[in-house]
Amino acid sequence: MLPGPDGNICVDCIHRAHEIVTMQEKRTQKQKVEPLPPTPTPKEIKAFLDQYVIGQDETKKVLSVAVHNHYRRLEAQEKADKAKGGSKTAPGGFGGRTDDVEIEKSNILLVGPTGSGKTLLAKTLAKILGVPFAIGDATVLTQAGYVGEDVENLVRYLLQNADGNVELAKRGIIYVDEIDKIASKTDNVSITRDVGGEGVQQTLLKLIEGTVCRIPPKGGRKHPDQEYIEVDTTNILFICGGAFVDLDKIIKARSDKGAIGFGSIDENAEKAASKDNDGLSVLKDVRPEDLVKYGLIPEFTGRLPVVTVMDELSEDDLVRILTEPKNSLVRQYTKLLAMDGVELTFETAALKALAKKALERKTGARGLRAEMEKLMTDVMYEAPGNSKMKKVVVTEQMIEQRLG
Ligand code: ADP
Repeated sequence: MLPGPDGNICVDCIHRAHEIVTMQEKRTQKQKVEPLPPTPTPKEIKAFLDQYVIGQDETKKVLSVAVHNHYRRLEAQEKADKAKGGSKTAPGGFGGRTDDVEIEKSNILLVGPTGSGKTLLAKTLAKILGVPFAIGDATVLTQAGYVGEDVENLVRYLLQNADGNVELAKRGIIYVDEIDKIASKTDNVSITRDVGGEGVQQTLLKLIEGTVCRIPPKGGRKHPDQEYIEVDTTNILFICGGAFVDLDKIIKARSDKGAIGFGSIDENAEKAASKDNDGLSVLKDVRPEDLVKYGLIPEFTGRLPVVTVMDELSEDDLVRILTEPKNSLVRQYTKLLAMDGVELTFETAALKALAKKALERKTGARGLRAEMEKLMTDVMYEAPGNSKMKKVVVTEQMIEQRLG
């Protein structure tokens, strides 16, 4: 027992009190967030995306604006939070007070074929932003209580990427891939429990709208006696992506019907005759009702107000993808071989032939990697330790021979 100024305290209690105070300090330190970095302009965001992603100009613009607005929204939120502690807001402006205007979150839906760069765009955004980012796959998600991943796991990944800092996670971005796979397959939804489709959409909807998620700190399934970390998802930006195979047929059926109804048959016939009238240009006309017909519930499409359609990559795009991005396949192989003292070059015709092969696979730019691996196996086998090998030129004939 030690004597204090106005009483006595035992040594154990001093230790205990010290522990409590330092733990509290650590906790508040960890949850502190730096003020937001200066908001990049949409043009700056797009210029950064351009370094890694070829083509997809329209989508890049849409994403840049959405992400810029996301930042602005967070700024407004921070200001409002600060003001709460300060003076009362001045009256005036539309609806009574000017700062009653709430900037709503504009979540995004990316529609586009596989291998067109949806995930790459999302990942590249993560590099620019000072906010945490997580990527999840809708196909593994199920309603809480069913076998599979809880939708809340998406927030858990985000929290992990934010180093456990809840305040930081609350300003994050989540990319949900393969969103088309949770489309409800039946028109008469809700009659039976639809674990993979409508049920997941309902749960995901809550997350997107804004809810307080209770995350088990160590992951795994929830159980009643566990402690939870609470994360409010109101300010988290959601980007969803999917291929939406056959969505063009739904759009076409709708626009054909509309054309007859409004007597613009000529116009439609002209459209049909034009060579532009392929699946993708039809997709560009997508409307929320088409997505509902596809199997997304109306509330869900309502929460994804920004819809953008990716372009199908052309042969030229694929050649550019092979060579231009900072970490393009050609640059990667050139670097690898340079380490063995071998200079690697590709003839332009060879790059074109390689792109053609990838196009045949119909997996967009994804096919490039597989074709390249196949092409380079022999060279990569021979080069290391071979002092006679100084230069390799990949020609069109080589492509034909090896990938024939
Ligand atoms: P998606 O998500 O649309 O199916 P990904 O973004 O996963 O396609 O693309 C697969 C790979 O193909 C990427 O990792 C990247 O290397 C390449 N790729 C796809 N699209 C592009 C693009 N527009 N620009 C550069 N590389 C691309």
